[in-house]
Amino acid sequence: MTVYCATSNPGKLREFQLAAPDFDVRQLPRSVPPPEEHGSTFEDNAALKALYYGGFTEGYLFADDSGLEVDALGGAPGVHSARYAGPEASDADNNSLLLQRLDGIADRRARFVCVIALVKDGKLVRTFRGAVEGRILAAPRGSGGFGYDPLFYFEPFGCTFGEAPIGDKMLVSHRAQALDAMFTFLRGNAASAGTQSSSSHR
Ligand code: IMP
Repeated sequence: MTVYCATSNPGKLREFQLAAPDFDVRQLPRSVPPPEEHGSTFEDNAALKALYYGGFTEGYLFADDSGLEVDALGGAPGVHSARYAGPEASDADNNSLLLQRLDGIADRRARFVCVIALVKDGKLVRTFRGAVEGRILAAPRGSGGFGYDPLFYFEPFGCTFGEAPIGDKMLVSHRAQALDAMFTFLRGNAASAGTQSSSSHR
């Protein structure tokens, strides 16, 4: 089954394709300017993106919104993760700002959250949520992954997501959980699925 995804982030696209080799996960055939992400929750932003990009193709399309929630920062950077240090911020800028804000703070608990919104023929089908718990180190470790991966220490692996092989990250990540829920839904229920309000999966 072909499922379109709405992302221009190569790190995410790779994870989307690795998640379900039995699906043909494709980017939209032409590039479309991104919508403004003004939602205050991951669910709002994922649905907003999926509905917008779903207007450019028939069939199934999904969009994700994801980010890092840090307990000591009241859940920040949260939905602002990609642009934490400013509209043009690089991953390195965002990571530096995060370390600055956590300077001297002992509570380093954090989680990555991912919400995927699935649309069919431009209508919202439902949303799927995944989350993975970890803690923020005092300095980056590893050059793999993207975004905050080098700062995110995952206890069961004994290393950061930046040090872990991508295949290992994909077994446990927030994105993997949300994707798994969506692909399971598509395999089992797609034929009979109508539209319904969002539900969460953790
Ligand atoms: P989005 O593209 O609006 O969903 O923003 C996602 C942002 O959250 C990314 O640019 C990263 O900064 C951060 N993020 C989300 N998922 C991950 C991950 O798996 N590893 C590292 N950073 C992530």
